[in-house]
Amino acid sequence: MKCRRFDTLRAEFEREIAYFSGHSARNRGTSAGKASATHAIDARRNMARALSTHTERCPECC
Ligand SMILES: [Zn+2]
Repeated sequence: MKCRRFDTLRAEFEREIAYFSGHSARNRGTSAGKASATHAIDARRNMARALSTHTERCPECC
């Protein structure tokens, strides 16, 4: 089971990832598009780290 905070955290990151992925797709082939693609990858990595750190520390998540 995951707690509400976990869901909120994941939703925030997913929104960020979707935003940068969309921006990257709309600006494909430009430096702005490349920057957004990199940002989406970073956000995905940050999400994995934040969620695993949360699960380790949260008494409600297991
Ligand atoms: Zn939790």
